[in-house]
Amino acid sequence: MNTQKKIDALNEVLTYAKTSPYYSKRIQIPPLDSLNDLKIIPLTTKAELREQSPFGLLPNSSMSLSQYHESSGTTGTPVSVWYSKSDLDEIAQGITSCGVNFCEQDLVLIRFPYALSTISHFMHRSVQLQGGCVIPADSRTTVTPMPKVIDLMKRLNITVLTCISLQAIMLAEMAEILGLEPKRDFPFLRAICTAGEPITPYRRELIEDIWGVPVFDNYGMTEVGTAMVDCHLKKLHMFEDCFHVEILKDDLVTDVQPGEAGNLVITTLRKRATPMIRYSTGDIVQEINSACACGKGRSFVIRGRKENILSINSVTFDLYELEKIIAPLPARRFWSAGKFNNSLYLFIEKESITDTISREYVDKLMEIYGVSISIILLNKGTLYDRDDEVSFGMKAKPRYFMTDQETANLLNEIKTN
Ligand SMILES: [Zn+2]
Repeated sequence: MNTQKKIDALNEVLTYAKTSPYYSKRIQIPPLDSLNDLKIIPLTTKAELREQSPFGLLPNSSMSLSQYHESSGTTGTPVSVWYSKSDLDEIAQGITSCGVNFCEQDLVLIRFPYALSTISHFMHRSVQLQGGCVIPADSRTTVTPMPKVIDLMKRLNITVLTCISLQAIMLAEMAEILGLEPKRDFPFLRAICTAGEPITPYRRELIEDIWGVPVFDNYGMTEVGTAMVDCHLKKLHMFEDCFHVEILKDDLVTDVQPGEAGNLVITTLRKRATPMIRYSTGDIVQEINSACACGKGRSFVIRGRKENILSINSVTFDLYELEKIIAPLPARRFWSAGKFNNSLYLFIEKESITDTISREYVDKLMEIYGVSISIILLNKGTLYDRDDEVSFGMKAKPRYFMTDQETANLLNEIKTN
């Protein structure tokens, strides 16, 4: 979309959004004369969305609502998001540009939660739009514990598994517990589609290694739905006609330098049932401005949640940095990181009882990063409980970053055992 078209689309959306109780007080413009004018409008934060839920963001229009979702997050007060039929169609259509290319021969097992969350429903709709068949296996429910999912995958000759990336690793582990070899015993599986948490290149490689099929990622959130999907070259492209993005420095005012990672702020360019104007997502994102060989132009890298960073003597470790450290190790599947006495502690579950970490490797890391680092191998099951077949003990979203107190407790536990 060229700049003038985008300004026109924004003016239309702002006029529309202004008819909602929430935005009526915040939007003094349009018309915008430039994209920069948009910055006059204050950012929309998650806290404000919470306050305005369930109806405060709905514009005064005749648009009929089709679907309701909410995310509760840590505070427990939900954020409400409504979708119209055309919103849902638009998102399902956007997902068709994913490099996985769902087709009529596909049997797609959806292992995302269906209750109130969005991605399962969007994926479901998009698979069917492309002629594929959906197996709605859901997630974190006693109806389909992990052994049941493995049974479905095997018995139905599932061709595509869709789940958060950690779940793909858990399911592989469950297949192994059941005496199966992921790479060998699922000959019909041709791809895995992930969403719901950032996937680093290291984790993608790990999952592709374990299952022997390509992994395609999908980025979105309850508030705006799916916003980006991987092309066949596994680069994340945004639905450029649907969203305008800004990437801001930590002051949440200044744009980052091109290519620099920053805070993603997103504005919907279509008349959504729940318009999002300058929504501060809390995700750290990097724009790759060079054209992708797939022909789609710029792509994005999702670095993770802003709060998921460990900072030790001003050296920062995010998901990328940590998984880069883990990548060459013999155990890479299940890990957790924390800080204690100004040291980085990386706890990793052993994959085999003979796994070890070489002293030289840790010394080399400390030289590179200039901080004290310990890598501790734990017995299988310490971080994720394999006896819990519903979720391996994972209560909500995956958590890789422990609080200082949790780190201290785990260190204590290891010492006493
Ligand atoms: Zn591409």
